[in-house]
Amino acid sequence: MRTQQKNKGQVCEAGEQLSSMGKTWGDHETMTSRRKFLAGTGLLVLGAALKIKGAPATDHASSPVIDIHQHADYNGRSVESLLHHQRAMGVTASIVLPVGRQALALPPGSAAKGGRPIAGDNDACYRIAKEYPKTFYAGASELDFPDAAPEIEKYLKLGAVVIGELKAKVECDSAEMQQVYQLAQSYDVPVLMHWQHGEFNLGLERFHKMLEKYPRVNFIGHAQTWWANIDNENKDQTEMYPKGKVFAGGLTDRLLSDYPNMYGDLSSNSGLNALTRDEEHIRQFLTRHQDKLMFGSDCADTDGSIDACLGAKIIASVRRLSATKKIERKVLYENAKKLFRIG
Ligand SMILES: [Zn+2]
Ligand SMILES: [Zn+2]
Repeated sequence: MRTQQKNKGQVCEAGEQLSSMGKTWGDHETMTSRRKFLAGTGLLVLGAALKIKGAPATDHASSPVIDIHQHADYNGRSVESLLHHQRAMGVTASIVLPVGRQALALPPGSAAKGGRPIAGDNDACYRIAKEYPKTFYAGASELDFPDAAPEIEKYLKLGAVVIGELKAKVECDSAEMQQVYQLAQSYDVPVLMHWQHGEFNLGLERFHKMLEKYPRVNFIGHAQTWWANIDNENKDQTEMYPKGKVFAGGLTDRLLSDYPNMYGDLSSNSGLNALTRDEEHIRQFLTRHQDKLMFGSDCADTDGSIDACLGAKIIASVRRLSATKKIERKVLYENAKKLFRIG
């Protein structure tokens, strides 16, 4: 009955480029909140002054940002490049997500431009979090169902702050996935799932049953099928990046409204697409779900600047499209700080 995951996919999504969006950057935090922040984070100030590795850049300290979706060794990117990338985006703390005990590789031919994207395993994420405390936090994950639970538990015991990203071809309400949800309940960590129709985490239309069955587990939705279904008129589930007008009340919108334990991860091309396809809709969506949405990047570039980096574009879009500064701060920082108890 072993249903080993053979179809190795990319950790995030296809490396296709969306058009450059959102050039307007938000205003800065007030001096009052800067003082308050600095007072509470003497370590960060000390770290910056002494140039301790992993300490965030000082110019971002007034306005911290948590990236809930990054990867170790992504596309061969070194830890130093990842640190540079995160700082360039203005990120002060990041969660590095494994997919399992195997480093993940794309089959030849389907790789994003520049080679074969790979991402680090549980151990790689654990090591990076241990080496750079408070700058990186690790997830724990496994593709290898039905034997996923022991591997995940091993890394939860080592301090992983989330189970994910979960990216296997399994039914979302299967017994083996429920084992993972029970583990999340025992260790009191959220579960981050990559929803991709026909490929990973199947049966989004039935997921409300799991949200009801595990009310103490916080679930985070990510990827194409999650974001395509903000639209109530989303008819073609094979369309991964639908464009144009969004009719409010889609499946994702309802799950976020109806279940206090459902959250959304804005990372990747799917998140950026949702932010930019219908700006009038998304302003209201961001307001409606301001306590549920969190910034993630999920990009493999080494640059981290607005022209080259998906994460930087997502941050700029959140800043431009949030109706208030308060909403922006929740999405870029406060919601993740509260949910993961980090930052
Ligand atoms: Zn993903
Ligand atoms: Zn990037």
